[in-house]
Amino acid sequence: MKLFDLHCDTITGLETVGLHLGNDAAAISISKLENSGISAYAQCFAIFLDDKYRGKAAIEKWDRIYQWFLKQLELYPNKIEQVLTGADLEKITKKGKIAAILTTESGAAFAGQLERIQELREKGCLLTSLTWNGDTEIGGGVYTPKIGLTPFGKEAVAEMERVGMIIDVSHLCDKAVDDFLKIRQKPFLASHSNCRAICNAARNLTDEYIQEIVHCKGLIGINYLIYFLREGDPENAGISDVIRHVEHLLNLGAVNTIALGSDFDGAKVPAAFDSIDKMNTLYTACQKALGTEITEKLFYQNALKFFQKNF
Ligand SMILES: [Zn+2]
Repeated sequence: MKLFDLHCDTITGLETVGLHLGNDAAAISISKLENSGISAYAQCFAIFLDDKYRGKAAIEKWDRIYQWFLKQLELYPNKIEQVLTGADLEKITKKGKIAAILTTESGAAFAGQLERIQELREKGCLLTSLTWNGDTEIGGGVYTPKIGLTPFGKEAVAEMERVGMIIDVSHLCDKAVDDFLKIRQKPFLASHSNCRAICNAARNLTDEYIQEIVHCKGLIGINYLIYFLREGDPENAGISDVIRHVEHLLNLGAVNTIALGSDFDGAKVPAAFDSIDKMNTLYTACQKALGTEITEKLFYQNALKFFQKNF
């Protein structure tokens, strides 16, 4: 099994408690990976900024987690390597290492300064969500639904596209997504969001947004958070719900858009697939329900092609 995961909060979580990837406390760890049956593995590691971080505090927090990310590369040079270009992906996975993609969750990391965008891109941050749940200098998140993109937000979108940083619309409110769709030029993605038609949560995507992402040849990463998988009785969320969301996406023509965005170490996820060493359970069930070709696209191929093409 090959795996490409568009979102986890593992590095941020490890930094907070002072632990490293060698420790099994997190859903993703070196030893869990060794027992996972995964033969090629690309993982987006988000530097996550909670809404309490703004301005100088956001810059300092970003830098602290970035140093922790670099520390993991230094501690485990035979196990993990950073992806800086699309060509790096298979070079790294063929060596049996984790192909680690640095990402940022919340444009608060820019602290309202356009020059920060290029700086983060030069450090290898390949994709960034414009907000977390609250509003940032860029625009409104799902908790601030009346706020669209700000004038700075519109400049930031253009600058991100100019420097080649992919825009992630997960966490944006609909008003801000609508503003973004009017000005975007490049392909974009939703790293960890599901279908609102299947589970009515503001963090999930409307059919219209799904179609926009399909149209621009972007990606949608299925989020395992129980509240985004299943409405009514989220405690019973499981593999069948992942399949329901994927099937809905397929009905909207998203066969080359589907991907995974686990949200590991940042969300309450079903016990059946709550860590990297249990992904084979999810894979086998998807293979049975969706067939091998679609499961391969979902787990690896679509995201691989997107990153190879865009970086
Ligand atoms: Zn998130």
